[in-house]
Amino acid sequence: MKKIEGIAASTGIAIAKVYELKAPDLTFENVTIDNPDQEIERLDEALKISMQELEKIKVHTKKEIGDEHAEIFSAHLLILSDPELINPMKDKISTDKVNAEVALSEVTNMFIDMFKNMENEYMRERAADIQDVTKRVMAHLLDVNFPDPALINEQVIVIANDLTPSDTAQLNREFVKGFATDIGGRTSHSAIMARSLEIPAVVGTKNITASVSKDDIVIVDGMEGKVIINPTDEELESYRKKQDSFAAQQQEWAKLKDEPTFSSDGEQVELAANIGTPDDVEGVLNNGGEGIGLYRTEFLYMGKSELPTEEEQYEAYKSVLEQMGDKPVVVRTLDVGGDKELSYLDLPKELNPFLGYRAIRFCLENEHVFRPQLRALLRASVHGNLKIMFPMIATLEEFRQAKAMLLDEKEALQSDGVKVSNDIEVGIMVEIPSTAVIAKQFAKEVDFFSIGTNDLIQYTMAADRMNEQVSYLYQPYHPAILNLIHTVIEAAHKEGKWVGMCGEMAGDSIAIPILLGLGLDEFSMSATSILPARTQILSLSKKEMASYKEQLLSMGTEEEVVAFINEKTE
Ligand code: PEP
Ligand code: MG
Repeated sequence: MKKIEGIAASTGIAIAKVYELKAPDLTFENVTIDNPDQEIERLDEALKISMQELEKIKVHTKKEIGDEHAEIFSAHLLILSDPELINPMKDKISTDKVNAEVALSEVTNMFIDMFKNMENEYMRERAADIQDVTKRVMAHLLDVNFPDPALINEQVIVIANDLTPSDTAQLNREFVKGFATDIGGRTSHSAIMARSLEIPAVVGTKNITASVSKDDIVIVDGMEGKVIINPTDEELESYRKKQDSFAAQQQEWAKLKDEPTFSSDGEQVELAANIGTPDDVEGVLNNGGEGIGLYRTEFLYMGKSELPTEEEQYEAYKSVLEQMGDKPVVVRTLDVGGDKELSYLDLPKELNPFLGYRAIRFCLENEHVFRPQLRALLRASVHGNLKIMFPMIATLEEFRQAKAMLLDEKEALQSDGVKVSNDIEVGIMVEIPSTAVIAKQFAKEVDFFSIGTNDLIQYTMAADRMNEQVSYLYQPYHPAILNLIHTVIEAAHKEGKWVGMCGEMAGDSIAIPILLGLGLDEFSMSATSILPARTQILSLSKKEMASYKEQLLSMGTEEEVVAFINEKTE
C-alpha cells in the first residue's frame, strides 16, 4: 500500500484497476536465441494482437469521426500484413538467431530510412506510418501497455502525467471511473473535464505515474486529494463506506434539485453549470442547474483532424438549447490556444502560449473559422434561450469587432430568409485584468459579463494556472482579485447589466459567501457543485455578507480573508 497526495480536482471516490496513459518505454535487449520457431511465433502473436487492435480503432474512428480518418488505419493494417516487411524479420530470426525485438527494429529501421530519403512525399509519409505501427508491435513483444484511450472497455482509473483536453475528450465515461495526474491544478482543463464528466479525480500529485504499475488497484479520493495504491482490505472497506456515505449525501442534496436558489434573507441568485459537450446537459438537469453559464465550445474542435462544419456545430448548439428549454444557455465562442491545442490549425509554437495567440485574438484574424461558428449559433438561436459571449477580451475594439461580425452574419442570414432570434444577449468573459479595470466603459456596450476567474487569477497574480511550483500564488481570495470582481459587479449594476462568474471560484464554498455579498447574479460551476452550493446559500444572509464588503476589500492578504470568512460562516 502506498498513499500519494495531490489536489482534489473532482469529488467522489473511485476504486479500479490502473490504466497507464503514457508513451511506453520500448527499450529492449539484444538476445541470442536457440529456438527460432518459438521466437517467430512470438512475433506472429504480437503482429496478430496489433492488427486486432488496429481493426477496432479503425471501426471506432469510422463511427466517431468518419471514413476518411479511418483510412490511415487501413494503411497501418496493410503494412503489418505485407510479406515484404514481415518475411525479412522472420529470416533474420532464423539465420542470425536474434530475438524478435531486434528483428523488428532492424528491418523496420531499414525501410524507414529508405522511405525517409525518398523525394516523393507520399513515400516519406509511409516512413512515419511504419514507425507508428512498429511501436505498437514492439510494445506487445515487450508486454508493456500501448495506450489507446478510446478503446478502454473495462472499469479503470486513468493515470497520466497530464491529460490534454483531446485525451480527455476521448475518455469513455462508462469505463473510466476516475483519474490521477502528475501535473495540473484545480483549474487545469483535465480537472474541469473530470468535473463535467462527474468522475473523481486527483491532479498535481507530481509522481503518480512513477508510482503505479500495470494492474495495480488504486483508490482515487477526489474529496481529500489522495490516491491509495494497492490498498489493504481494511482500507478498501473503509473507502467503500465513504463511497456509500457520499452517495447518501448526494441523495440529501438531490431534494433541492427543483428548487430555486434563495439566500436565508430571501434574495435570489441563479446557479448555472459549465459544460463541454451536449452530453453534459443531462448531468446539469439532474443536478438542478438553472441554466448553462458556460458552454466551452472548443471541445467540438478537439479530438479530430479538421474543423467541425457549420452544420455539425449547429446540431450541437441546437441540442443543448432544446434540452435546456427556456433556461438560459451562455455559449462561449472558440477559446483555442493556451493549453488547448488544435493540431490541424498548425498554430505556431509560442514561448508563452497563455499570453499568446489565442481565443478571440485568433478568431478575429481567422474569419474562416469564426464566421461559421457565429452562423451556427445564430441559426440555433431560435431553439432556446441563447446568449453569446466572447473569450479573452482585452480591449473594447476586440469586442466591437467581434460583435460587428456577429451582426454582419445575422443580417446575411436574415436576408437569405433564415430565422434568427432577436433576443440574443451578447456579452464577454472578464478574464484579463485590463477589462476588469475598465469594466465601467465595457458595461455601456455589453449585455452581460461573465467573470472567468481561472484566467483572471493567473493573469492578475502572474502565476501560471498549470504550474504547481507557483501554485501558492494562485490565490482566488486574494484582495486584489476580490477588488477586481467588485469593480466589475458595480460597473455592470450601474448600467443595469447582470454579472455571472464561470471560473471555478463560483462553486467554491469559501468564495460563495464573499461573492454573494459582492452582489454576483449568476454562479456557474461544475454540475456536481450546484446542489452543495444551493444548500450553502440557503443558510447565508446576503445582507450580512454585503455588510463585510468594505472590510474584505481593504484586507492585505488572502490569509486574512479566509480566516475572516471562516469565522463569520462557522
Ligand atoms: C476562466 O478562465 O475562468 C474560464 C472559465 O475559462 P477557461 O477555464 O476555459 O479558460
Ligand atoms: Mg479562460
